[in-house]
Amino acid sequence: MSKAEFQKSIEPLIPGLIAYFNLADAKRRNCHLGHEVVDAEIDEFGRALSASADLVMRIEGSSWLALYKIGSESSIESFLKAAYQEQPFTVGWKAHGQRNGESIEKEETVKSSIVLAYRCMYAPVESTDSIAKLMDALTNEYVGLPIQIAIPFANRSSFERRGWQCVTSYPSKAPTCPFCSECKFNCFDGDGSVFSGFGECKKCSAIVEIRSVEYVR
Ligand SMILES: [Zn+2]
Repeated sequence: MSKAEFQKSIEPLIPGLIAYFNLADAKRRNCHLGHEVVDAEIDEFGRALSASADLVMRIEGSSWLALYKIGSESSIESFLKAAYQEQPFTVGWKAHGQRNGESIEKEETVKSSIVLAYRCMYAPVESTDSIAKLMDALTNEYVGLPIQIAIPFANRSSFERRGWQCVTSYPSKAPTCPFCSECKFNCFDGDGSVFSGFGECKKCSAIVEIRSVEYVR
């Protein structure tokens, strides 16, 4: 459904509440869990939202707009609460080094948690003229708002905005050379994972490859 179609479909149903939902820190979830897992989560959330609201549109990769009836604040709250998940997660890095025909591996992981959470903001819509403007405002103004709170659009400025990570902790030590514990490398290049890289140790010239270690326990 396009934005224009959604807008058109809302018109006969208003007054109502338009709610915006966004999967928080989706990029990091993708990085750690892979697209297949995250896509399945997105599908599942979309299905649940369709059952909870009167009309739903998925926008972008992991955002939705939904129309609820006036007075549905508690339904939005409980839907949001039910969507939350926290899983024990082991995360860290593994460094594989090679120097003069010798190989060493070093690993650093921590017991962490990976959290599935959403941002949500909603506003009443009373006239057809205001639908488009409200849809844009909700879609554009969610950044940095607290997770897992259904925030009335009118009160948005009373909430502190800041970054949030879906992984509760990472190893305190950055990846280092398994031979000499140096943390600086030449020509270091990664694949975009949270911990990844391949390069030469600045101190002992070992060739070091760093990969993420990550699994849900
Ligand atoms: Zn080294």
